Amino acid sequence: MADSILITGGAVLDGTGAPPRADEAVLVRGDRIAALGADALAQAESDGVDERVDATGRTVMPGLIDAHTHLSFGEPTGNDELFHHRTQGYSSMLSAYHARKVLRAGVTGVLDADCLWSIGVELRDAIETGIVEGPRMRAGGQALMTMLGGTAGRMIADDGTTGYATVVHNRDMMVREVRRQIKHGVDWIKIMVTGQIPTMKGPEVKVWNLDELRAVCDTAHELNTKVVAHCRNSESTRDAARAGVDLIYHASYMDDEALEAVVESGSALCPTFTLLGNLADYGAKVGSAPELLDVFRAEIEITAAQMAKAHAAGVPFLAGSETGFAVTPVGEWHARELEMFVQYMGMSPMDAIVAATRNGAFALRMEGQVGTLETGRLADILVVDGDPLQDVTILQDRSRLAEVIKGGRRVDLVTPIPERRMRSTDQVRFLASCPLTRGLALTEEQLEKLARV
Ligand SMILES: [Zn+2]
Repeated sequence: MADSILITGGAVLDGTGAPPRADEAVLVRGDRIAALGADALAQAESDGVDERVDATGRTVMPGLIDAHTHLSFGEPTGNDELFHHRTQGYSSMLSAYHARKVLRAGVTGVLDADCLWSIGVELRDAIETGIVEGPRMRAGGQALMTMLGGTAGRMIADDGTTGYATVVHNRDMMVREVRRQIKHGVDWIKIMVTGQIPTMKGPEVKVWNLDELRAVCDTAHELNTKVVAHCRNSESTRDAARAGVDLIYHASYMDDEALEAVVESGSALCPTFTLLGNLADYGAKVGSAPELLDVFRAEIEITAAQMAKAHAAGVPFLAGSETGFAVTPVGEWHARELEMFVQYMGMSPMDAIVAATRNGAFALRMEGQVGTLETGRLADILVVDGDPLQDVTILQDRSRLAEVIKGGRRVDLVTPIPERRMRSTDQVRFLASCPLTRGLALTEEQLEKLARV
């Protein structure tokens, strides 16, 4: 491993929001940024360097931080697959395989807020101890739900803990579960504040009361742990903010009252438009009902208008992709959120980049250590062909990623990662999603898979 790398000739976009600086050198020594600009060149001259990277015509910027991933989920096509067709050991190994893909996509940090079993904590430790290659990671455990479930609604059992979730009925159980997860090493507690109720039309409804939310936040905060909440309506966003939730996912349909609560509390927002955006744009291809696609698009548009107000009011934004489902496969969509910030919220590409770099350090609980290119920071660096301020979508183009450096180490972007094949027991997944059940024609590939069942 090279102990020092000198990157020259590139425009440094440092993640602080400052304009890029043309032709600026960056010197990496060990796992940190040792110097920038003339200092970097002078130090390289006097002490020598092991490796040089020519970034002429390219942008040198911090590695991306994805604040909403599910690396252990195994890219399920639906809840049935996620809840009933996963085993712990295989899911652990699959998440290690996926961690590598994340890093290759230029994502040097993730918050994996909830996972199957306790895989997140184990994966984080495996990456930190060097036995698995992956991004810096902060992990939650199983999502906490009331009996009313989250997006899965009545598919969640009335009681107990499964791979995916733990059902908590009252304050005592909530406090106990928060403590249990902290005991086992989580960095964040994830709560599902909204759920699906069959008789209630429209989007998810709030299924926790303020008192319960406060119990979780107070317990977690006393034990130096942060709380992230899934909030897919306005009341949940409002109460989560009032209770002291640190990071709010989705904040769908946030009204002005909820927005005010968020501004007052200092909670950060991570809208996670990407999953909905992929469903709206590609859902038809994977069999989603057309009326559902319009609902997704409306959720994005209505929410984005309020998000723009929150951004103007100074609420910190983080970029999260909800990578880990079939519509958000690992390593493919992490940077789409930046494009959606620009497209739907009217955010500047610069602010979108800051959301995915400097602001992301909050999700990693490493503020002041990662997320910007400054002397003394950990050296998590991308060299990108082109200018993402001109076109932020280039961050989604793997062929534009000339270098990914994590902790001062250049990531191998060349050796192919073996393609994952379905194991025989995953054939259940194929049957469950088989277009034959809807009387549609099958492709050659699907027929071949069917023949193997
Ligand atoms: Zn999620």
